[in-house]
Amino acid sequence: MANDDVEVVIIGGGAAGIAATRRLHDAGTRCLLVEARPRLGGRAFSVIDPSGFALDLGCGWLHSADRNPWLEIATEQGASIDKTPPPWMRSALEIGFPPAEQKEFHAAVGSFFVRLERLAQNESDVAGSAALEPGGRWNGLINAMSTYISGAEWDRVSAKDFDRYDDSGVNWRVIEGLGTVISAYGADLPRVLDCRVVGIDHSGKRLRIETTRGAIAADQVIVAIPSSLLAKEQLAFVPALPQKIEAAQGLPLGLDDKLFVALDGAAEFEKDIRLFGHTDRAATGGYHMRPFGRPMIEVYFGGRLAWELEAGGDAAFFDFALSELVNLFGAGFASRVRPLQVHRWGHDPFSLGSYSFALPGSADCRQTLAAPVDDRLFFAGEACSASDFSTAHGAWQTGVNAAEQVIVARKD
Ligand SMILES: Cc1cc2nc3c(=O)[nH]c(=O)nc-3n(C[C@H](O)[C@H](O)[C@H](O)COP(=O)(O)OP(=O)(O)OC[C@H]3O[C@@H](n4cnc5c(N)ncnc54)[C@H](O)[C@@H]3O)c2cc1C
Repeated sequence: MANDDVEVVIIGGGAAGIAATRRLHDAGTRCLLVEARPRLGGRAFSVIDPSGFALDLGCGWLHSADRNPWLEIATEQGASIDKTPPPWMRSALEIGFPPAEQKEFHAAVGSFFVRLERLAQNESDVAGSAALEPGGRWNGLINAMSTYISGAEWDRVSAKDFDRYDDSGVNWRVIEGLGTVISAYGADLPRVLDCRVVGIDHSGKRLRIETTRGAIAADQVIVAIPSSLLAKEQLAFVPALPQKIEAAQGLPLGLDDKLFVALDGAAEFEKDIRLFGHTDRAATGGYHMRPFGRPMIEVYFGGRLAWELEAGGDAAFFDFALSELVNLFGAGFASRVRPLQVHRWGHDPFSLGSYSFALPGSADCRQTLAAPVDDRLFFAGEACSASDFSTAHGAWQTGVNAAEQVIVARKD
């Protein structure tokens, strides 16, 4: 690979790597973004369905939209923003979940979060499940919520880390797809696709970055690949960086997968309303009816249920959803739905999951993961964010932070 000129290599072309490269490129640094997939965006991934709708198989919501940098970028690109309140902030459909039960559930969730916040103040970093009421009627659905938020049930999630997440409560969407916006933001940057980095030798004066398409020499590197891949040592550091690997192992990626289903006679349902397949267990789909008013259902599966369904292949997602829908609406519903798209993020070799959570006892791993090494190796990616982890805007911020650190290091 002809690269004598490269000063900084950025590994991983997701939201973090793109943001880092953009910042360095604008500052006049000779940089190169190296991405393993044949496309940019990583876990930001929009596909166009046969009706022309952009489906976000990865991130879709501009969480904390009132301070989300992707909002400005999307607007500059001319994308359209939908400000409909998200389904989880409105009442759910009443079928299988009458209003009195919804009221009881919301009260139980409120008390759970008060206990969780208290737990998080303790010195020891315990699992969120310690805040569940023993034998509580709503524990199943409260656990389902954790699978949607963190990709794992509360028994695996650090209460302290969860409590550090900062949510402004404003959630908007991009009609053309958030994945479309994020990948387009990197489209004109110096980059190489279809090129996997396998190792970084930082023993010499210049870094040697080994890739599947040859070696690249650079002064600095920003590593912006998912924590799951670092944890599995899919990128070899020479000399080894055991502290980084350990930190990454404390920050696994939870699993959430979306299934898009076409729906005939959709007008029967209010747009952007949610329902649960079951309200008495964690293993249930969250059904977002008519997202953007489209004739479809966006189904969310998380945690152990999502891992189980992934093991059964793409068809297992639709079969499970169909069984829950038929259970609620009757056998006739089967003829009104057909599968459109699903992406198995746990089996995707370049993510191995959806977004990071901290294991109990690992709340401080984010700081360790984000720390630079010798002013030459810098780290970015959503798992490095102290309070916006698991999101595309958190990833953006870590990328910009790492780029700023590189710029300072190059001046010294
Ligand atoms: C189903 C789902 C729903 C989500 N919903 C939302 C949401 O609504 N709102 C939100 O804000 N966030 C959401 N997220 C999370 C959000 O998508 C991620 O937090 C964010 O996109 C992560 O960006 P990143 O740059 O840290 O990592 P990634 O996007 O994973 O980028 C890392 C890149 O590194 C590449 N790579 C890996 N290994 C190598 C290697 N060896 N060499 C070179 N390249 C490599 C990968 O291919 C990838 O492109 C969701 C994610 C999923 C999966």
